[in-house]
Amino acid sequence: MHQPLEQRPPLKRSDGLKEKPQLPDSFDMSGPGQANLLTNTDRVTGREALVQNIAAVSSLAGAVRSTLGPKGLDKMLVADNGVIHVTNDGVTVLRRAKIDHPIAMMIIDSASAQEMAAHDGTTSTVLLAGEMLQNAWELIVKGIHPATIARGFISAQQKAMEYLEQISIVADGPTDLERMARTALCGKGEAASQRILARLACEAARGIAVEHEDRTSCDPTWVKVLFDKGGSAMDSHLQYGLVLAKQACHPDMARDLDTGRILLLDGGLEKRQPSIDAKIKLTSAAMIEAFKRQESDMLAERVDRVVNLHPDILVCRDGIDDEAIRLLQRAGITAYRRVERPEMELLSRSCAATLCSSDKTARSEDLGTFSSSAEAIRSGVVHWSIDGISSKGMTLVVRGSSEEVMAEVERSFSDALGVCSLLLEDPRLLCGGGATHIALSRRLRDWSEGVGKREQLAILAYAAALEVIPRVLAENAGMDGIGTLLELTAAQTIAAQDKPESADRLGLDVARSTVSNMLELGVVESVAMHEQALKAATAAAVSIIRIDDVLWAKHDPTMPEGVGEEEDSD
Ligand code: ADP
Ligand code: MG
Repeated sequence: MHQPLEQRPPLKRSDGLKEKPQLPDSFDMSGPGQANLLTNTDRVTGREALVQNIAAVSSLAGAVRSTLGPKGLDKMLVADNGVIHVTNDGVTVLRRAKIDHPIAMMIIDSASAQEMAAHDGTTSTVLLAGEMLQNAWELIVKGIHPATIARGFISAQQKAMEYLEQISIVADGPTDLERMARTALCGKGEAASQRILARLACEAARGIAVEHEDRTSCDPTWVKVLFDKGGSAMDSHLQYGLVLAKQACHPDMARDLDTGRILLLDGGLEKRQPSIDAKIKLTSAAMIEAFKRQESDMLAERVDRVVNLHPDILVCRDGIDDEAIRLLQRAGITAYRRVERPEMELLSRSCAATLCSSDKTARSEDLGTFSSSAEAIRSGVVHWSIDGISSKGMTLVVRGSSEEVMAEVERSFSDALGVCSLLLEDPRLLCGGGATHIALSRRLRDWSEGVGKREQLAILAYAAALEVIPRVLAENAGMDGIGTLLELTAAQTIAAQDKPESADRLGLDVARSTVSNMLELGVVESVAMHEQALKAATAAAVSIIRIDDVLWAKHDPTMPEGVGEEEDSD
C-alpha cells in the first residue's frame, strides 16, 4: 500500500543543496561507471522522485487553497524584517514565501506566467496543477505509465481549448466589461471599493483602447499610477492625460498652456561632469574665469540648440543647471527636470514625441504635440498634468491612508485593468463560479469514451481535476464540497437535455449557496484567462509527471554560500 501523499514528511532540499547540476549532453547515467560519475550529486530516482515532486506541488496548492473565490480568506505574510502583508492573492502568497524547491518554483513560475498573461486566475492555476498531479499519481499507482498519462493530459487540454471556444459567449459591451472586472476583483477588499475600482478599470481600459480596422488593441501600460497619500481608497480617481508629481523649474515659466510642442531629452542640460576623477591645475584667477566662461558658453550653446527647435515644453530625464533654466525661461520654454524613464516613455507615446538621446541629435521632427498642460496642488504637492495629442495616456490617482493600502489598491486596479484590456481585445466571455470547469469536465468525459483505454483513464483524471475549482469554491463558502459538486454537475447535465446553452452557465452562487445562472448573476471571465490557466497548469503537470530523476549538486559544508561558484562556472 502506498503512503498517501499528505502523510509524507514535508519536502525539503537536503541541507545546503544548490542548483540542479548542468549535465553534459554525452553524460551516460546508466552505464557501469555511473556510481563514480555522480559522486558530487545527491540523486532521487524513479517513483520516489515523482512522489516527492507531486508532494511539493500538493503542499503549494494546499497553501493557497483557502484563498480561492469571493469567500476565500486572506493570508498574513510576515517577512524576515517583521513587515506584515495581508493578501488574498495566490501568486503573492507563493512569491513571498521562501520556497527553493525546484518543482515548487516551476509551479510558482506557471502562476506568474498566468499573472503576466491574464492578470487573474493564479490560484486556480496552482490548484488545477496540484489536482492534475494528484490524479496522475493515482493512475501511476494503478500501473499506468507516466508517458501515457502525459499524452492523455495533453490531448485533453487541446480538446478543452475547442470546447472553450464552443461555449464562449460574445460580450455585451460596457456592462459585461464591468462585471468581468468585478469578478476579477472578487475577494480583494470591500465590496464598495471593488465596485469603484472595477468602474475605474473599465473607464481606463475604454480610454486607452485603440480601434484598428479589424481589431481593438488595449495596452494597460498606458495608464500611469500616482500615489497621493491621504483620504481613503474610495477617493481614488482617474484623470485623462498624465499626472506627474513635478513642477516647472522656474516660477516665471508658463504653467497653463494650450496646444504646443514638446521636446523630450533622455539626459540633461548640465555642465560637464568628468566621468573619471580628474584634476585640473588652474594657476591664475584669469584662467579660472576663462574656464568657467567656457563651460557656460558650452551650456549656452546647448540651450541654443534646444531653443532653435522651438519647443513650448522641454522635459529632461536628468538635471538642468540654473544657468540653463534662466536661458530657457527667457526663451519662453517651460522646463521639467528629473522625470523618470518610465514617465518619459509615457510622455513619448502620448505626445508622439521621440525620446532624444541628447540636444545634439534632436531634430524638429522629434518634437511631439500636447493638447494641454497645467499644474495644480494636491495634498500640498504640485502636480503637472499634460494631455498628449493621442489622448491615450491616463493616470489613476490612488488615495489611501498608508503606503500599504495604496499598494493594494494599485495591485487590484492593475489586475482589473489587465482583465478589461484582454476583454476589449478579445470580447468572448465564459461563466465563472465553476460553471466553465464543469461544462468542460462533462464534455471531456463524453469525448473520452471514443479514446483508447489507457489514455481514456488519463483524460478522465484530467476531467476530474477540473472539478477542483467548484469543489474548493464550495468548501471556502462553508458548503459541502463533494455534495455541491455533484449537485452542480447534475444540474448542468439535466439542463443540457433541454437548453444546452444555459446548462454551461450554471455555476455556484457562493453568496446564496445555490446553483445559479452565472451569466445572469454577472460572474463572468475572459476566454483568454481560462485558456491560459489550463495551458499553464497542464504544461506544469505534464513536465513534472515526466521527471523520474532528480539530481542535486552536493554542497561542500565547509564552503560558505557563493564561494567557489566562479571557478566552477569556468
Ligand atoms: P484566482 O487567483 O484563481 O483568480 P480568486 O480568488 O480570484 O482566484 O477566485 C476566482 C474564482 O472565484 C473563479 O473561479 C471565479 O469564477 C470565482 N468567483 C468569483 N466571483 C464569484 C461569485 N460572485 N460567485 C461565485 N464564484 C465566483
Ligand atoms: Mg481572481
